[in-house]
Amino acid sequence: MKIVIYGESDKHGVTQATKEVLGIGSRLSKELSATLIAVCINPSQETVSDAISHGADTVSVIEDGRLTGYRPELYLAATQEFCAATDPDILLFPHTYPASDLAPRLAFRLRTRLTADCIDLSVDSDTKLLRCTKPIYGGNIIATYSSPSRPQIATVREKVFPANQADETRKGDISPFTLQSPLPTPRITSVKKVIEDYAGKKLQGAEIIICGGRGMGGQEEFNALGGLAQLLDGVLAGSRPTVEKGWTHSRFQVGLTGVRVSPKLYIAVGISGAIQHIAGVVGAKTIVAINKDPEANIFKEAHYGVKGDYRQVLPAFKECLKKYLESH
Ligand SMILES: Cc1cc2nc3c(=O)[nH]c(=O)nc-3n(C[C@H](O)[C@H](O)[C@H](O)COP(=O)(O)OP(=O)(O)OC[C@H]3O[C@@H](n4cnc5c(N)ncnc54)[C@H](O)[C@@H]3O)c2cc1C
Repeated sequence: MKIVIYGESDKHGVTQATKEVLGIGSRLSKELSATLIAVCINPSQETVSDAISHGADTVSVIEDGRLTGYRPELYLAATQEFCAATDPDILLFPHTYPASDLAPRLAFRLRTRLTADCIDLSVDSDTKLLRCTKPIYGGNIIATYSSPSRPQIATVREKVFPANQADETRKGDISPFTLQSPLPTPRITSVKKVIEDYAGKKLQGAEIIICGGRGMGGQEEFNALGGLAQLLDGVLAGSRPTVEKGWTHSRFQVGLTGVRVSPKLYIAVGISGAIQHIAGVVGAKTIVAINKDPEANIFKEAHYGVKGDYRQVLPAFKECLKKYLESH
């Protein structure tokens, strides 16, 4: 049995999202007694050794000068040929751009189904099929899918699965894969790449997020929430209305049309918990909600809830937190 991971890399080696997919991939491969193969396009030496130290048994290396930078049609042809030759049972991608662009194209070409943006993956003990769990209907329902069509393809949400601890002593095979078929003439051209000129803390990947909603009442009050974020070394985020009101930048909007986050701690202040907001936080490990409306939907999602006016709750909370941080 073979599990293939689509490995993405940056200048440091394998990306964090790929390490997380290798992490869940290696747990599944143990359960299924499968070989874990990472397929990497034009990888550096660091990428190859990173993939092995994070769980790959084999790294299949596709070296091809035409595959520099993501180009959908070329990457599709390359991965399709690789799959035809390798015949994987399971194929896992990180849910990043460009992998989440490539995965459905490949699923269509391979005439199989894809479960995108999974927050849990397990093996059905009877059928041995992959059970892919993901939020649907804006995060209102968590659904689990299985399909006998092969390969079983899934993309994996970032920051949900832990990566394996790097083991530099791990040994693995490095297997070059040479493309035999001619690559198509691409019809899609990347016109321009704009790298956001922002050096501050980012929402993506943040472990602690304090998120303010419309209930904060105004710009000044919203900004004041930054003090709590600072105290916890977290990032200050907002719901959509706070972006619309100009209290924060859209790069800090959490939700369906904002950023989907999976922090260890998510503190929602003055947020009602609309499904479009919740869609962005279903991966959070612990949700704490502060809201003055006892009926607010956010309390159905929260692990801890404080029913009250944040103006009264937060000063006391911050005071306790300061004392705790001083004594630890
Ligand atoms: C297609 C679509 C996509 C969307 N995408 C997103 C998205 O990505 N992200 C997003 O956030 N929304 C999104 N929305 C909007 C979403 O439906 C909600 O309107 C929005 O999330 C509500 O934001 P909120 O909770 O800040 O405000 P509200 O719903 O107005 O809630 C404010 C809350 O603050 C509480 N409150 C008021 N004063 C206090 C106080 N002093 N102390 C404590 N609590 C107080 C109130 O009880 C209330 O529950 C989307 C909507 C659509 C239709």
